[in-house]
Amino acid sequence: MTPPYETHEHDVLIIGAGGAGLRAAIEALAQGARVGLVCKSLLGKAHTVMAEGGIAAAMGNVDKKDDWRTHFCDTMRGGKFLNNWRMAQLHAREAPERVRELEQWGALFDRTDDGQILQRAFGGHTFKRLCHVGDRTGLELIRTLQDRGVQQGIDVFMECTITRLIKDGERIAGAFGYWREQGRFVTFKAKSIVIATGGIGKAWKITSNSWEYTADGMALAYEAGAELLDMEFVQFHPTGMVWPPGVQGILVTEAVRGEGGTLKNNRGERFMEKYDPKRMELSTRDVVARAIYTEVKEGRGSIHGGAYLDISHKPAEYVKKKLPSMYHQFKELADVDITTGPMEVGPTCHYMMGGIRVEAETGQSTVPGLFAAGEAAAGLHGSNRLGGNSLSDLLVFGKRAGNAAADYAKSVQSGALDNAQLQDAEREMHACGWLAHVQSGLAPHAGLALDGISLGSGHAQRAGSPRKPRCSQSHRLSQL
Ligand SMILES: Cc1cc2nc3c(=O)[nH]c(=O)nc-3n(C[C@H](O)[C@H](O)[C@H](O)COP(=O)(O)OP(=O)(O)OC[C@H]3O[C@@H](n4cnc5c(N)ncnc54)[C@H](O)[C@@H]3O)c2cc1C
Repeated sequence: MTPPYETHEHDVLIIGAGGAGLRAAIEALAQGARVGLVCKSLLGKAHTVMAEGGIAAAMGNVDKKDDWRTHFCDTMRGGKFLNNWRMAQLHAREAPERVRELEQWGALFDRTDDGQILQRAFGGHTFKRLCHVGDRTGLELIRTLQDRGVQQGIDVFMECTITRLIKDGERIAGAFGYWREQGRFVTFKAKSIVIATGGIGKAWKITSNSWEYTADGMALAYEAGAELLDMEFVQFHPTGMVWPPGVQGILVTEAVRGEGGTLKNNRGERFMEKYDPKRMELSTRDVVARAIYTEVKEGRGSIHGGAYLDISHKPAEYVKKKLPSMYHQFKELADVDITTGPMEVGPTCHYMMGGIRVEAETGQSTVPGLFAAGEAAAGLHGSNRLGGNSLSDLLVFGKRAGNAAADYAKSVQSGALDNAQLQDAEREMHACGWLAHVQSGLAPHAGLALDGISLGSGHAQRAGSPRKPRCSQSHRLSQL
């Protein structure tokens, strides 16, 4: 039966256009699949673009002794050995190749004097391992993948939120969602789906994450019958901004410590000597976050309840070159010049280690035809992710999931989009006040917003047919 909504059909549908989704899409396309890529904001605005410090890969460009085995051991140790060891092995082994490939596709990394990709120190990594572009690595990664994907012919659907996966019997058959601009419903028919929707961090008040991180993919997969894993493993990054209140939680990249930044309490003591005398500021994130928390709780915190992070002993030009975003962030948001004085920092919710349970080799979830990659998937990082291991995760497992999803799509016929499930998905949207949310976007244009009756010029500007919401109570963060 033809569904009563606008419908698009592909072999493989990727939900999420960050690093994991884009890398999966590029790979599925390379395997000959017709690929659709859906994202709830604009292409290029995913979380990946915010990544600052770098991509971890044992290339051995700076520390010749580095190799994938050490990276594997560091990752397992950082994750308290609760990692899926096979994922950690594949990740450490394949990350260098994925970085080289990115470079071949046009990514321009910072360089060593002899022209190789430069690598910097980061917490929990034995050697200098993070390939980077100043403190704007995510921007370069997403730009490169986006150029490659669009040029190769991926169908991109922007500002479209998926709210339900549709099944045909036990297997995946498609997805249901709405266009954010107008609220109109849309369906996607697909033989396989890759979830690459990122994490959950916006559920916390003090967070480095943006509005998009609302656990959508985990909820979608769970409701479709997939198993979730390690949902209690949430990472608090030790260094978020603490002052002024309006910017609380915004990330202060670990690269500041990687470039030699020191942490001090209100007595001027380098307190990491007590918590990890060997690795000091470059200890793992869980240890540094707990150390700052303890210092504050025991009365040795900074004036606004954090710790002092100082990089001003380095030459000002060096700081501006290696940490340009941090320099501007503090200057513009806190009126602090980090080349002359310390920053105030404290823990902020940052990353979700838990998520959809997947097979290491393929990213296959426990639902046939449903795959996951990136922050939405669980296993690689155990109970604590090392900095830089997410960007390499996206590339390694994005590629693997895209490949496996394309393979699966070759092995099956299209499933049917069941009308009862679609109607149920639509009912759910009415019940949770989706239209009120769409209409709130009309507020700047509207004479009277949110009552569905008189929307003034906003109604005319954003064509569609808004109906009056039955209930404005949102029970599901993910749909907003
Ligand atoms: C400030 C900051 C700095 C970081 N720095 C680093 C770093 O230096 N190194 C490192 O390794 N890691 C870093 N991380 C972590 C890393 O950036 C993320 O873990 C990673 O980018 C996640 O990528 P992803 O592809 O899984 O998801 P994302 O990049 O978040 O992409 C998610 C996509 O899913 C879409 N989406 C979500 N829900 C829906 C839905 N319902 N329907 C349709 N689309 C949907 C979004 O629109 C988006 O396109 C940093 C994170 C932050 C927040």
